[in-house]
Amino acid sequence: MNAESAAQFRAGPVVALCGGIGGAKLALGLNRLLGKNLTVVVNTGDDFEHLGLHISPDIDTVVYTLAGLNDPERGWGHADESWNFMQALRELGSETWFQLGDRDLAMHVERTRALQSGVSLTDFTASIARHLKIPSAVLPMTDDHVETVVITEEGPLSFQRYFVGLQCRPAVRRLEFKNAQNAAASSAVLSALRNPDLAAVIICPSNPYLSIDPILAIPGIRKTLDEIKAPIIAVSPLIGGQAVKGPTAKIMAELGLPADSGTIARHYPFLKGLIVDKVDRGEVSEIGLPVHAASTLMRSLADRDRLAGECLRFAAQLANAVEGSG
Ligand code: GDP
Repeated sequence: MNAESAAQFRAGPVVALCGGIGGAKLALGLNRLLGKNLTVVVNTGDDFEHLGLHISPDIDTVVYTLAGLNDPERGWGHADESWNFMQALRELGSETWFQLGDRDLAMHVERTRALQSGVSLTDFTASIARHLKIPSAVLPMTDDHVETVVITEEGPLSFQRYFVGLQCRPAVRRLEFKNAQNAAASSAVLSALRNPDLAAVIICPSNPYLSIDPILAIPGIRKTLDEIKAPIIAVSPLIGGQAVKGPTAKIMAELGLPADSGTIARHYPFLKGLIVDKVDRGEVSEIGLPVHAASTLMRSLADRDRLAGECLRFAAQLANAVEGSG
């Protein structure tokens, strides 16, 4: 965090809700501007057991990204990766549909060991973040098991089978988040959201259906978002009706929803403001919420910092407007 940004954003703590690659881009900008004042709450609906290991794809993407260890081309996994483990698995005739790099493997082995010895996912993630010198708090949405199931025209599919195995080809009918109703928001997540000094909640430009909805499906989190006073804003993951990457727009079409900013705004009933891309400025009058138009495509580190700054300024304006009118 540089001195200028630290001074500029002494607004108070911020919580970001985040999935994987798209969300982590903005989380990185926020982490650089806010440091310890940021808590990133991450989707764990994609977590699964594979080869006896507990894999948390979105947590790993966020952790590697905030630690500067992610592969910038793929977006997921570790930079400078080697694939000897996968090659050895292939030679043994074992399952190779899910890619696990050699460096990445260390994370899954350590997480599995920790969970088996009774350490919570929250505590394990915090300890990894400390070792990797990530200033922000990275929190799994829950320590309980929640499982995203994609109900497709071909029947119900586990998330990884749909996303990785079938590369999102089957048309989506609806999503289910198994056990979410019984899952407890961790005390760390709840205290971050209930902090009386909270300046904003920012919904990162993650896939609303696959990455953010599992977080919102946890009753304790949803109820808290409905109650908090701090402005909740979202950055649209769509630019000109298209996803930058991944199946967001395809899923919207399959669910019979227009792929536009209005649909994103209506998806989050507690939203106080939406950031859309400048190319979507024309849709602003139809949204029915305060909207800020920005360049939302994050190619460079400077793009991530700039968009993070715009989110914080927009949220501060919304908070001031409420105070001014109260
Ligand atoms: P996943 O879990 O790895 O698929 O990642 P997320 O759910 O966090 O993010 C996927 C979404 O990120 C997609 O809908 C993309 O359109 C969106 N996305 C990716 N990069 C960008 C970007 O630079 N700007 C914006 N606005 N959205 C992005």
